[in-house]
Amino acid sequence: MQIYMPTNVYSGSNCVRNHRQELAALGKKALLVTGRHSSRANGSLEDVENALQEEGRAYAIFNRIEENPSIETVMQARDFGIQEGVDFVIGIGGGSPMDAAKAIALMIANPQEGAGILYEKQELDALPVAEIPTTAGTGSEVTPYAILTIHARRTKQSISYRIYPKLALIDSRYLKTASLDTLIDTAVDALAHLIESYLNTNANAYNRMFSEKGLSLFAEVREELLQCRQMGREPKLTLSDKVFEKLMQIAAVAGMAITHTSTSLPHGLSYPVTYEMGVSHGKAVGIFLPGFLECYQAQEDVQAVLGNMGFASVEQFTEYLDELLGKVEISDELWKKDVELIMGNQAKLKNYPFVMDEETLYRFRR
Ligand code: NAP
Ligand code: FE
Repeated sequence: MQIYMPTNVYSGSNCVRNHRQELAALGKKALLVTGRHSSRANGSLEDVENALQEEGRAYAIFNRIEENPSIETVMQARDFGIQEGVDFVIGIGGGSPMDAAKAIALMIANPQEGAGILYEKQELDALPVAEIPTTAGTGSEVTPYAILTIHARRTKQSISYRIYPKLALIDSRYLKTASLDTLIDTAVDALAHLIESYLNTNANAYNRMFSEKGLSLFAEVREELLQCRQMGREPKLTLSDKVFEKLMQIAAVAGMAITHTSTSLPHGLSYPVTYEMGVSHGKAVGIFLPGFLECYQAQEDVQAVLGNMGFASVEQFTEYLDELLGKVEISDELWKKDVELIMGNQAKLKNYPFVMDEETLYRFRR
């Protein structure tokens, strides 16, 4: 068994300001990688700018990362970063800017290479990366993964390199501007990470330790999340600071779990659904969790997962998730293509500890 978690993680109110020296130690000029609006609105971008200015570091901002970032956008940011002469990268936002930051750091460090290398297995270094999450879902602040949209293949895939962030600065205050859908969908993404890591070919006592902790924290907030959905109000009007903190913690711990195992079938199945239907990542993953639990061969492990979340049965969990997420109707045509794709996706199939056949997979859509 091995545990390897090289990211230096700080969490707490004001942690960007409090750890600005560690941030500044990563280089002389930073590329700040963000989405279009949210990092400005929730204060995270301003905190980073202030921290860098106080430490006498220069920076340039690339604020055009879209949801489910594409290879094309990464290459645009790469050109901008090279032109600006940056020597480290800070991803600020949800999983999209954080993942993009890792791929951009790789491409800037290898300016002679084209986008083709993203999906080749080579020994290439990346510039140092720091991550500042503003959603509580992907755990990208601690994982080595970077998932990009490949338009030519009409889906998404993680790049071939493991790029561990040097530093993660987690401040749950940034989460308070999240919409109801973003908050819930991203929480379900974190939940999927905890489950898919626990029920995984690569599972051992270490990653299960992270999963168990995350699942029991989820048990502490799950009713508040559901109430938030039932009331249909903005999360910040309903949830306490403690709940925001726990959600950020669940996401980071879930990231630590998948760092050791990667994800499995629900994630693999979600990518074409996101690409073709525009369903958010967390929601697209969440719709496959009940089928995954129901079909999983080692039901004693499923019971352990359910028990940690405080559910007595898969039916109870399914009822909860349906109410939390709402339903997604996947067409027969898309579903057939999705199942065919996953049956050819060795990277995801090998993380499922039993033999998977098409007939069982078809039961994942409800
Ligand atoms: P996201 O795509 O990063 O962001 C979704 C939306 O939420 C965007 O419109 C964004 O706005 C907004 N937003 C972000 N933070 C906000 C805040 N605090 N307040 C208000 N709005 C906010 O969503 P995500 O679910 O976090 O990331 C999904 C991506 O991560 C997918 O590409 C997925 O494949 C990937 N992922 C990566 C890993 C990993 O291990 N690396 C694991 C799972 C998923 P702006 O665009 O204006 O910022
Ligand atoms: Fe995910």
